[in-house]
Amino acid sequence: MIESGTNSGLQDLQNRILESIVRGEPLGKVARHICLGVERLVPGVICTILAVDAKGGLHTLAAPGLPDQYSHGLEGQRIGPSVGSCGTAAWRGEPVEVTDIATDPLWENFRGLGLPRDLKACWSSPIKAGDGRVVGTFAFYYRAQRGPSELERRIVEKCVGLCVIAIEHDAAQSRIHRLAYFDALTGLPNRVEFAERATRILGGEFAPGSAVNLVYVDLDDFKSINDSLGHPVGDVLLERVARRLASCAGERAFAARIGGDTFAVLDPHGADPASGALLAQKIISVLGDPFEIDAQKVTIGVSIGVVHAQAGTSLEQLAKRAEMALFEAKSEGRGTWRVFSPATETALRARRTLKQDLRNAIDAREFTLAYQPIIVLATNALSAVEVLMRWEHPSRGSISPAVFIPIVEEMGLIGTLGDWVLREACRVAASWPREIKVGVNLSPLQFRKSGFVLDVISALHQAGLPANRLELEVTESALLARDVTTRTALHDLHDFGVRLSIDDFGTGYSSLQSLRSFPFDRIKIDMSFVRDIGMDADSTAIIRAVIALARDLGMRTTAEGIETESQFDWLMRHGCDAGQGYYFGRPMRGADLQALLERTDRDDELIVPRAGDPLPSGA
Ligand code: C2E
Ligand code: MG
Ligand code: MG
Repeated sequence: MIESGTNSGLQDLQNRILESIVRGEPLGKVARHICLGVERLVPGVICTILAVDAKGGLHTLAAPGLPDQYSHGLEGQRIGPSVGSCGTAAWRGEPVEVTDIATDPLWENFRGLGLPRDLKACWSSPIKAGDGRVVGTFAFYYRAQRGPSELERRIVEKCVGLCVIAIEHDAAQSRIHRLAYFDALTGLPNRVEFAERATRILGGEFAPGSAVNLVYVDLDDFKSINDSLGHPVGDVLLERVARRLASCAGERAFAARIGGDTFAVLDPHGADPASGALLAQKIISVLGDPFEIDAQKVTIGVSIGVVHAQAGTSLEQLAKRAEMALFEAKSEGRGTWRVFSPATETALRARRTLKQDLRNAIDAREFTLAYQPIIVLATNALSAVEVLMRWEHPSRGSISPAVFIPIVEEMGLIGTLGDWVLREACRVAASWPREIKVGVNLSPLQFRKSGFVLDVISALHQAGLPANRLELEVTESALLARDVTTRTALHDLHDFGVRLSIDDFGTGYSSLQSLRSFPFDRIKIDMSFVRDIGMDADSTAIIRAVIALARDLGMRTTAEGIETESQFDWLMRHGCDAGQGYYFGRPMRGADLQALLERTDRDDELIVPRAGDPLPSGA
């Protein structure tokens, strides 16, 4: 009679438990249901269910009949050959019956936990997953020295089966959660999880009025790592970067991978923008150390955008601002960070408009060329003319190439525009009444393009200009990537007779290696040094050194931006070959240059009027 009542009670318990598993109730709650149900069926026993983690640590899932201190005392305990009933059952993978806790050697180290609570005996059974791994234990504690009855054995058998289902279901759920919300490669929260957590934080999970910092971290030129070192190295790099980022985030903030090579760090206690900037600096410095992958050192730069906001701001708006700040950091040379400010947005909007205008300008050919004379300092003879691009914006007036060329490069249109400059410059130079050289500035992207050498040759040919009258100016920074394409192109052009100048020398890395590896004929000393002549001893020392270096390497020198007579005198006395600057003449329109060339007649000693003399200005 009792037995059949227990049977139906057990059946009933089983149904209720299965239902709650299907309903998706948390594992702890299901385990508690089981314990309470069983304790009702078998009065006098205390039932506990423990989980065993992958490292063999014990964690209480449910022990409703025991005080919390008991569970705390057990938490994290490692299973072993004599670790009470549960730890030993899990270790052995078979049930352990301890009928007298007071004397059984398995309880030697745990008697203090059990005896004061009047626990006299404990019978524990392992819970095994489908693959045989022990994932938990199911135990009965008795307040008398005894073992289990037959009925209890049957109940436990059933309950262990229920526990297997509950634990495996929970593991499957967390696996699915991990796959859906965590990035498989780095283990960081993915975009979805990031959005969920961030929304909770911004939605005021913290005190109202609290503020957050969101930091977007983007790897600079990650593609080239993949391309040059291979995807496996790229993957390892991402993983390591993630690890360092997580350590930067610490306990307070959290890091997530929100794109291929883009990460986010959200600090829910970002008191002010300065603390965001501090975090950004820390990240740049921590990621700046080389990574050792497959016995090679890999370095990667990062650009960072920071935004600070009060809780209550929408995630969408916050993310947009972080992106804008990141974009600003990227366009300001990478490897750096920017904090979002209203000015960031204005600048970005202006840049976007400028981009659209540029697109139209390229279609409508709104560009012109200006020409600036280059003088042989010793004789005042005009030796060359540098061609400088001008953009006459319909409403904003003349816009400097220093502003628009980087944008044209970013838009991928520098090839088209640069080709036009080259052809136009060659055509115009061929029409000059004097055989002076024409200097044309090149964007690094131009000569990295295959077929560039042929483009130059065809431009010369079409214009009928001898190769030695063309002087191509390449900025120093362009030579950093000493790739074979660049080197081959420059050597081929030089072999063909085209002259090569290194522009803005002294502002980049001034690598002596690049002077040796590329066939330059001329060094153009940047105007920042010329400006300091007579004022700054270091600058003059640098100019002297560059002139000496050029002479030893068989190159000529041109000083840029000469504005005063004293600069001119100093440079001439110190052996600089040529110069250009407002002192001799500003960049001028084509027609004005033509007139200037026609006004002067002697071929070898063309005197250009000095500043103050009536030299046509304009363009
Ligand atoms: P850059 O090649 O170093 O050109 C010299 C710049 O210095 C020009 O600025 C010129 O107007 C300016 N300049 C010359 N003398 C003086 C002076 O005495 N004082 C001062 N303050 N400035 C002087 P611009 O025309 O604004 O050009 C800026 C830069 O834009 C050029 O620097 C060059 O790197 C680039 N650029 C110009 N045209 C082209 C082009 O057709 N293609 C490419 N890729 N870049 C170009
Ligand atoms: Mg130049
Ligand atoms: Mg220059």
